[in-house]
Amino acid sequence: PAARGKPALTLYLADPRGFCAGVVRAIEIVELALKKWGAPVYVRHEIVHNRHVVEELRSKGAVFVEELDECPDDRPVIFSAHGVPKAVPAEAARREMLYVDATCPLVSKVHIEAERHAARGRQIVMIGHAGHPETVGTMGQLPVGEVVLVETVEDVARLEPRDPETLAYITQTTLSVDDTAEIVRALVARFPQILGPTKEDICYATTNRQEAVKEMAPHIDALLVVGAPNSSNSRRLVEVGRAAGCGYAMLVQTAADIDWRAIEGVASVGISAGASAPEVLVQGVVEAFEARFECHIERVVSAEENVAFKVPRVLREPA
Ligand code: SF4
Repeated sequence: PAARGKPALTLYLADPRGFCAGVVRAIEIVELALKKWGAPVYVRHEIVHNRHVVEELRSKGAVFVEELDECPDDRPVIFSAHGVPKAVPAEAARREMLYVDATCPLVSKVHIEAERHAARGRQIVMIGHAGHPETVGTMGQLPVGEVVLVETVEDVARLEPRDPETLAYITQTTLSVDDTAEIVRALVARFPQILGPTKEDICYATTNRQEAVKEMAPHIDALLVVGAPNSSNSRRLVEVGRAAGCGYAMLVQTAADIDWRAIEGVASVGISAGASAPEVLVQGVVEAFEARFECHIERVVSAEENVAFKVPRVLREPA
């Protein structure tokens, strides 16, 4: 009997997907620090939210900790791409530690914005996710009470600002563009005087990745987003896919997480990846599909990206 062929499947690959400029820079900072100062180099919090990235750096001599008090005084420490409250570098300086800040420049931009508003006496509403290190870091640029957090439209109704006339809002960089727009509308409706950022706080990488998922959504029966469960922008991509009509949208850390039974019988699958997910994991997913299906691959291009950030000067100088 003739061998039965593999079933046909169209794979739509979102472009852009995966690493953003802030993640590339943060990883490069750890690698350069290891080269310059040798192991161990301490990293406060996962440098970016991806286990694969963390394990690879750990194998090269990086030691990941959650708090500064877990680091010795005499080894370099790096702060993660998400940013840190002001108290953290202040404490490192007090202990005369050698530290390098890998906060993404687009997160630092929001920090600076917050400080400018505060300097003009404005209380700040931050749209973000409670407990996410970026939110903790951004709110921690100012004294407690100066920045209040809202996560939903309902939170906006509950706000009790010091003075409704002198308010500004900022956001986390990795939020859903559409959900955030809704919260901003609620803020402006309640506080018409509120000031917003001149240039979006949600970063280009978040925006472009969401846009690509929206563009592919009408063509696909299922969406897989490669990313970590604690990666905000990856989780938002899954939500964006669902909101755009994908009946099945799931986060997978690697190909091993794919639920093949759920995908049985579908004709087309979309694949994207969060800003902290390395391309090698995406390729692993593509290969897993190719092993089971006769795949036809289509790219869905929503934007060209050519953003790159320099590493801090201390790592550009020879040892
Ligand atoms: Fe920077 Fe955006 Fe990447 Fe976050 S997702 S590290 S803000 S470029």
